[in-house]
Amino acid sequence: MKSWNEVALPPHEFSFVFPTLQLTNSASGTKESLSHKPLYRMYVCGITPYDATHLGHAATYLTFDLINRFLCASGSEVRYVQNITDIDDPLLERANRDGIDWAQLAHQQIELFRSDMVNLRVIPPTAYIGAVEAIPLVSAAIEQLSAKDSIYPVDQDLYFKVHKDAHFGTRSHLSQDEMLTIFSERGGDPTRIGKKDPLDCLVWMSQRPNEPGWNSPFGIGRPGWHIECTAIAIKYLQPDGNEPSLIDIQGGGSDLIFPHHEMCAAQAQILSGKPLASTYVHAGMIGLDGEKMSKSKGNLVFVSKLVSAGTDPMAIRWALMKSHYRTDRMWTDDLLVEAEAEIIGLRSVLRSQKGATTQDLIRQIVGFLADDLDTPAIIQGINTWVAHSHSGAEGGEVKSLETVLDCLLGIKL
Ligand code: ZN
Repeated sequence: MKSWNEVALPPHEFSFVFPTLQLTNSASGTKESLSHKPLYRMYVCGITPYDATHLGHAATYLTFDLINRFLCASGSEVRYVQNITDIDDPLLERANRDGIDWAQLAHQQIELFRSDMVNLRVIPPTAYIGAVEAIPLVSAAIEQLSAKDSIYPVDQDLYFKVHKDAHFGTRSHLSQDEMLTIFSERGGDPTRIGKKDPLDCLVWMSQRPNEPGWNSPFGIGRPGWHIECTAIAIKYLQPDGNEPSLIDIQGGGSDLIFPHHEMCAAQAQILSGKPLASTYVHAGMIGLDGEKMSKSKGNLVFVSKLVSAGTDPMAIRWALMKSHYRTDRMWTDDLLVEAEAEIIGLRSVLRSQKGATTQDLIRQIVGFLADDLDTPAIIQGINTWVAHSHSGAEGGEVKSLETVLDCLLGIKL
């Protein structure tokens, strides 16, 4: 599927060696250093196109954009793959509710998502793959799992035996009761009659009345969500057989830790005999008025609505960076007002091309970014520099700072 338009970066060459990037690995619960490599493989779960792009989405893709930018600026290549679940229950439910064709709804929302990503200056993935176009891959992956005695039918549907993977549960660290509860809340069907284990996950759903279906060796139907990501990640990231894991980073919002990323990791382990990822990175949830932002609560704030009301997309990006990516946090009007004021202050110094010394600030930005993307510390450092510059301090290479803000933080004013 067509990705979104390239984000132009200024010519840049950094005169110092980048520190090693440290990221919190959700599977180990600790901050770990990524070993320096010429090529990184990163998979980030994409949207289901019926409610794009709310600020929770924006915060997630911004997080992985910062990782992408840091690794590229440090001289490595990043092979970055993102999927788009362009067929799934929530998309069909929304299309039914609104009385429109599901494919048309998906098309509209994908276009909206693309323009939001461009406005937020998120660098596009190397490959952007839809679930529908991935059906042959998914079918092949199900056949491989089946050959390893990991698939069984319930009626005309197919399920994956999660406990075939001896490591099942080791990436999310939940009790059986917690897993059952969350599985049920997030699209799972623990009570379905005929399943061998309540946590086994659907990999192929036979066609239901009035729903679309595609041909497969298992009959007409559509893929389950987890196997979609597993198959796309393995195919498009082209794992290196000499590496201990298939890919370097598996990412998404923290609501994907279970069941989605646990299921993907279990399927990949059976398919390849290896861990899916060496690092699992998760962004916190964004809330509004004291509650998590979610479609079920109807309290979503959309990037496109803010932008069409005149909000500078750079202020949205800045406001999201004012908190640490891992924290669950609230979105408020005050936060946006503060971000807009700070952006105006920064822009005025950049335009004047006269500012306080920049060498230490640039090193701080790189150092804080390397330390598990500590963007609140970066914003604080920039605000202090702006204040010094407004007080008349001079001697900085403002152009160099502008390049760093653009290349590493995606802030272009
Ligand atoms: Zn996914």
